[in-house]
Amino acid sequence: SLPVCECNTCYGGDDCSVFDLDCFADVESGDPMFLEPYWKKHASISAVVISGWHRMSYRTDNFITLIELENHIRLLHSHVGNAIIDDKFIVFGVGSMQLINALVYALSSETSTPATVVAAVPYYNSYKSQTLMFDSKSYDWKGDAWNLSDTIPTNLVIEFVTCPNNPDGQLNKPVLNGSSVIYDHAYYWPHYTAIQAPADGDAMLFTMSKVSGHAGSRFGWALIRSPSVYEKVLEYVNLNSIGTSHESNLRMLTIIKAMLAEKEEEPVDDIFGFGKKIMSERWKRLNDIVSLTKRFSLQSLDPLSCTYFNTQIDPSPAYGWLKCEMEEDEDCYAVLKEGGILSRPGSHYGDSGRYTRLSLLKGDDDFQMLLLRLSNIVGVNVLEQ
Ligand code: PMP
Repeated sequence: SLPVCECNTCYGGDDCSVFDLDCFADVESGDPMFLEPYWKKHASISAVVISGWHRMSYRTDNFITLIELENHIRLLHSHVGNAIIDDKFIVFGVGSMQLINALVYALSSETSTPATVVAAVPYYNSYKSQTLMFDSKSYDWKGDAWNLSDTIPTNLVIEFVTCPNNPDGQLNKPVLNGSSVIYDHAYYWPHYTAIQAPADGDAMLFTMSKVSGHAGSRFGWALIRSPSVYEKVLEYVNLNSIGTSHESNLRMLTIIKAMLAEKEEEPVDDIFGFGKKIMSERWKRLNDIVSLTKRFSLQSLDPLSCTYFNTQIDPSPAYGWLKCEMEEDEDCYAVLKEGGILSRPGSHYGDSGRYTRLSLLKGDDDFQMLLLRLSNIVGVNVLEQ
């Protein structure tokens, strides 16, 4: 039988009051549930009802929802000031996940020799896993961009630049001169970083998953300067999925409208102010615990001035990139697992096992469990020192 109610993470029993002492702090995935309370507060303005007869067709041409959605994405970028949109085409994707290979396909089809695809370590793993899986004659995955920095290949090099970076939150720039860059700006929103200037790359990826938190709606977009690259990306998406779903398009339009309805408010009261406050507090609390021990360290991030909040702001990254500093702790993921924390190992990002990624994006229960488990590990260690 189905449970009567869903208990919070790590609680069970008939009335959800029994704490499971063996419960892991699960901070493995980048599920952006920290924004759920925001949408609970804005439940009616963000609600969508779709009748059974509505939008049944495959057809999408000239649907007002799509035109409106594109306009609202442009309005969102202009409001936040994180991308120059006037000279760019937009392609929607089933998450930005779909657009990763779409862009590699589009860029590599502009030359006759196979393109080399790289990203600087530590990199988001899907660039590698997708490029390897599709195993095309038109491009090869060559791993860490730093390895190519001394020898400049003669063929086209496609470099993924994630800014801010997943996993370490750094504001990455291309490592290679003359490469064709795909900028992944999934986290270039004021909850996760200071907006310093509007991004203006030739090919840029964004996703609703990390702006509004609606990761399950699977909606992302690419901003593309070149008409020929745009046509190729569009061709890929049409062949691959015949576009994004009407339900998702409609829901995303409503969600963006709800976010923009707060435009006149002070930024501290809108979704970005809400998200930023949570993320910077989480970053500070994590650092407070890690600073109690020499066993671990976290990436270093500076306060930066932000054009959106119009002031200098503290770091608020989506992830902690934790390093195990003791010689014997070569497998940092295993060290944390032993202490009841599920993280994502450094090897997943092409990096050393001394690193592991902690997601700070999940719901409050998961974050509180992380603090509890981590302080237990640190506490034991502090006593031993
Ligand atoms: N790029 C980066 C850097 C990400 O972290 C993610 C999600 N974790 C994605 C792309 C894919 O996001 P989605 O498919 O949900 O749009």
